[in-house]
Amino acid sequence: MSELKIYNSLHRQKEVFTSLYPGHVGMYVCGPTVSGESHLGHARPYITFDVVYRYLQFLGYKVRYVRNITDAGHFEEEGREAEDKIAKRAQLEKLEPMELVQKYTNLFHWAFHRFNCLEPSIEPTATGHIIEQIEMIKTIMEKGYAYERNGSVYFDVKKYAETHDYGILSGRVLEDMLETSNRELENQDEKINNVDFALWKNAPPEHLMRWPSPWGEGFPGWHIECSAMSSKYLGKQFDIHGGGMDLQFPHHECEIAQSEIAHGELMARYWMHNNMITINGRKMGKAYNNTIKLTELFTGNHHLLERGYSPMTIRFFVLQTHYRSTLDFSNEALQAAEKGLHRLWSAYEVLQKLTYTPANGQPVNEELDKQVRDWCNECHEFLSDDFNTAKVLANLFELAPVINSIKGGQVKMHELSEETFQLLQKTWSIFLIDILGLQPETLNTDNSKLDGVIQLLIEMRKEAKSRKDYAASDKIRNQLLAVGIQLKDEKDGSITYSIQ
Ligand code: ZN
Repeated sequence: MSELKIYNSLHRQKEVFTSLYPGHVGMYVCGPTVSGESHLGHARPYITFDVVYRYLQFLGYKVRYVRNITDAGHFEEEGREAEDKIAKRAQLEKLEPMELVQKYTNLFHWAFHRFNCLEPSIEPTATGHIIEQIEMIKTIMEKGYAYERNGSVYFDVKKYAETHDYGILSGRVLEDMLETSNRELENQDEKINNVDFALWKNAPPEHLMRWPSPWGEGFPGWHIECSAMSSKYLGKQFDIHGGGMDLQFPHHECEIAQSEIAHGELMARYWMHNNMITINGRKMGKAYNNTIKLTELFTGNHHLLERGYSPMTIRFFVLQTHYRSTLDFSNEALQAAEKGLHRLWSAYEVLQKLTYTPANGQPVNEELDKQVRDWCNECHEFLSDDFNTAKVLANLFELAPVINSIKGGQVKMHELSEETFQLLQKTWSIFLIDILGLQPETLNTDNSKLDGVIQLLIEMRKEAKSRKDYAASDKIRNQLLAVGIQLKDEKDGSITYSIQ
């Protein structure tokens, strides 16, 4: 089998993967901030690293996959203070912060089960590791790379950069950052330089999430949790650190700096970053009013969506593009993905039912036989070449017509050798199901049948209403609601429904 190559953001090149401990891989992926519902942009990193996790296991590695939950922390964006999303949202929803965090953690888990993402081996939370974060901050202070101001502690980036490469990952140049950011320093007077980032923040009286520390009551900075939790569960140095490209700077750059000072070594040897999802060619964000939550994506309940899409369609859509390329979302692209996935499933189902019939002396079609073998074997090569799921799917699409032709009789079974036929069956179940993690779309085909049934009930309810049989119309509505289907009377007189 070909060796695994990974594009390492740290050195901006593809490198042959070797693990720190033979047969074992430690992988850390930055998890969600559970201050709100996960959206389409979140789907990509978790599906991407789910395939990385599955493939490493397929290659025989014992993988410890750690993905954190950010349920507390101080947020900064590009050196500027950002709002405390959890506190703000908790106030808005009138919930205790931990209640809010639990609600969105549960919703996150629900969505990612539907995407058929495997559970990480450990899912640590920031609030569960305050002591570890404080200990790490103390070490950084002892080594002289952090300073305290009014109960807050900041990392001294300029000092770090004297002996280390701050910008190693993002390619940013500190001098440029200093020049532009120090113009804004006036209102950030606690910091020596605006590029410095918070390790600990003093909690103002109204701040609910607070913990005692050597610097007074406060709460941790955002970046420190990943450094503290990754070293606790994976060691000071480990193999792979993953996340979205938007996390490269400042988050991952800060993680590297903190860990390097606290532990004296580079925290992760391979840094992997998935590219972003755009929507109709535009960046996703509040400014464009185009953020699509996962629940909206599944139900179709969003102004940009023509209808809902199944979790497997979205998973397939994500995997159809290599993780380092941008991925543009549109209704057309999703509908094409849905059709494509359907084609693969039909071929897969046909293939499962086929059994090899011996040639009876008739010759194997050498050319076809070799072509099928090559397409199958290439799947390994493609995934070993920086997890190119797009090329694997392209090969499965090449193989689908061959499978259909065997069923249709245009290609005789004996044109393939028995060995090749078995390789074909094995390749589909290993790649489509085990590694790409796709599941049969029974849900989806059921949905179209279900839709027919619900439309019938809607019609019956309309008729009941028109003859003023409200007992019958209420019964239909209430019984549907009891099984999680909610009818909605629209202003234009039509009736729509959503599945909970
Ligand atoms: Zn992180």
